[in-house]
Amino acid sequence: MSLKSQLSKINFWLGRTPQVLKVPDFRKFIPSPFKTIVLFSADFELAWAPRYDKQNDRPLEYALRLAKQERKNIPEILELCDKYGIPITWATVGHLFLDQCDKHPEMPQVPKYQGRYWDFSGTDWYEYDPASDLKHAPEWYAPDLLKLILDSETPHEIGCHTFSHIDCRDEVCPEELLQAELNACQSVASDWQLSLKSFVHPGHTIGHLNSLKNAGFTSFRTDYRNLLGYPKNHGGGLWELQQTAEIQYRQGWSSEYHAKRYIEIIKRAISSNTVCVFWFHPSFDPRVTREILPEVLDFLDNHRQEIWITTHGRYCDFLNQNQN
Ligand SMILES: [Zn+2]
Ligand SMILES: [Zn+2]
Repeated sequence: MSLKSQLSKINFWLGRTPQVLKVPDFRKFIPSPFKTIVLFSADFELAWAPRYDKQNDRPLEYALRLAKQERKNIPEILELCDKYGIPITWATVGHLFLDQCDKHPEMPQVPKYQGRYWDFSGTDWYEYDPASDLKHAPEWYAPDLLKLILDSETPHEIGCHTFSHIDCRDEVCPEELLQAELNACQSVASDWQLSLKSFVHPGHTIGHLNSLKNAGFTSFRTDYRNLLGYPKNHGGGLWELQQTAEIQYRQGWSSEYHAKRYIEIIKRAISSNTVCVFWFHPSFDPRVTREILPEVLDFLDNHRQEIWITTHGRYCDFLNQNQN
């Protein structure tokens, strides 16, 4: 086991991570009779996210491989959600709503930039967009999976993860670019009778919060640290949901340890009356769906009288109704 995985185990049992920040008037954030809120969000992106991954020599191949894994995982994740009655907020790349396209000359070009996870040095942001359709390029289009999510028994939420997985930081993303991405997402979503309220910045590249407010979004998610605390109010109806943990398969930990750890986090949230914000990449190692999530979701289902398990949108509606 790597030193990092081992240290993380020690810090976890010492209670150093996630950090617990409790307030006395927690009822503003957690309605009675619940003791905690548990939220799950998924960054639904197929090949759009990792195509410029800088850790990888062949990022496009890597992106296509992850997209295939994500396509296999999502139906299994949805089955688990239905079995245990757990809703997820699917932060969806807008392009995935399309069943075909002919590239996007109407969209502003993304300027070159360097980022934490991706560098873009090309001249055509859509160079890998296959200009094809769901049948021939299922790594870039996903109306079939969206339909599967929306047809589920469980009331999931469809959120927004930009149209083409851009870096949203103020310093690299012109405001017109984010505006155009948001407009494109809202326009494809409205064809599905959906209105998008929950936003997740790709790679947590936080920026342009005013544009989010103006477009009617009520939340975004951050990863500055692992926290059991409360959402931060940014005004204008917009809330920052601070992550508690990413659900993933970490090399060096057994499936059993993963499940035990996530359940322990929920127990800490219950005993400290704080809010638990889980998120994941649905392209994760399939052992997460087969060996870890069933344990965690079963625990939640058995404690639902003390846990409000909901989506980002429904939770922020509650916050906006109760804060004034
Ligand atoms: Zn396209
Ligand atoms: Zn992403």
